Amino acid sequence: MERVQIAFFGRTNSGKSTLVNAICGQQVSLVSDVPGTTTDPVRKLVELPYGIGPAVLVDTAGYGDEGELGAQRERLTRQVIDGTDVAVLLRTGHPADDRWERLLRDAGVPVVFPGPDRESILKSIAEALPPREKRFLTGRLVQKGSRVLLVMPQDSEAPEGRIILPQVQVIRELLDRGCTAVCCTPESLHGSLKALGAAPDLVITDSQVFTEVDMAIPRETPLTSFSVLLAGAKGDVRVLVEGAAAIDRLKPGDRVLIAEACSHVPASEDIGRVKIPALLMKKMAGQAGGLKVDIAAGNDFPEDLRPYSLIIHCGACVATGTLVMSRIKKALRAGVPITNYGIALAKLKGIIDRISIP
Ligand code: SF4
Repeated sequence: MERVQIAFFGRTNSGKSTLVNAICGQQVSLVSDVPGTTTDPVRKLVELPYGIGPAVLVDTAGYGDEGELGAQRERLTRQVIDGTDVAVLLRTGHPADDRWERLLRDAGVPVVFPGPDRESILKSIAEALPPREKRFLTGRLVQKGSRVLLVMPQDSEAPEGRIILPQVQVIRELLDRGCTAVCCTPESLHGSLKALGAAPDLVITDSQVFTEVDMAIPRETPLTSFSVLLAGAKGDVRVLVEGAAAIDRLKPGDRVLIAEACSHVPASEDIGRVKIPALLMKKMAGQAGGLKVDIAAGNDFPEDLRPYSLIIHCGACVATGTLVMSRIKKALRAGVPITNYGIALAKLKGIIDRISIP
């Protein structure tokens, strides 16, 4: 089940951190009588009862403070709204509470108010959660008994001793769906294909090695990528595929926004910050003026998207579908095409018509 985001809003020192700690049953946020102890939003992954399931609780910095620091806290708090599935608002009787309730409701976020105890607040959250349909990452691309080959580079960008989240999620889902999952690296791809005998029913690859994998597998074998699967599960894959067409329309002087849903420490060969901009520049080679590429990490998604000719979003592996959809809607409202890393790479490598969409 997709993790939901439950965020706690209220004036500074209204008791948000105390409530988050009570719900978690442990001290997640520092609690103090000094107003404004929480500055950046504090996030905690939890498993909650009453059918809520996996959730991320966000203790926001709050609002209502004076001065530059107060304005900064409000800005950070406002950024949390986008990915929030349910807001818990702690009212103190201050007029700012009404303003924030309006802000949340206008953004389409259900708002609940804390009850007398932990159980009542959890029940209110469970009732307020919008209905969630279970979306498979692999969608209709597999069925029970499918044999699926996963190509997972374990290069300098891969974390030491771990498999990244989208790959873990896909493997688990394939097992749940009664499929056979065979994992390999690009280097062992030929050996794995040989060992499989007959061609696999589906190949899922890291988008960065699309071309190499496409050349190695039979033409009729369906091919997709982890990033494309994420686009289908968390966003609107049709909009993201349409958005990639804007790559052909880019002209010198245009601005492109590379948006990341988290603030990870970028690798030297980072896909969003290095590889995709390099491919875009290569496409524009010879045209004076080039492109201007901006990077927005984590919650720093710009309010005004109108200066951009294209937004290329990461796969959003650790973000909620609510966040991804809110960004897609913002882009559509601003009239700016939006795509994601995997789909942009397929387009830039000239194989977008070859990839299977979940
Ligand atoms: S959320 Fe986006 S930027 Fe962060 S690790 Fe996942 S895909 Fe990469």
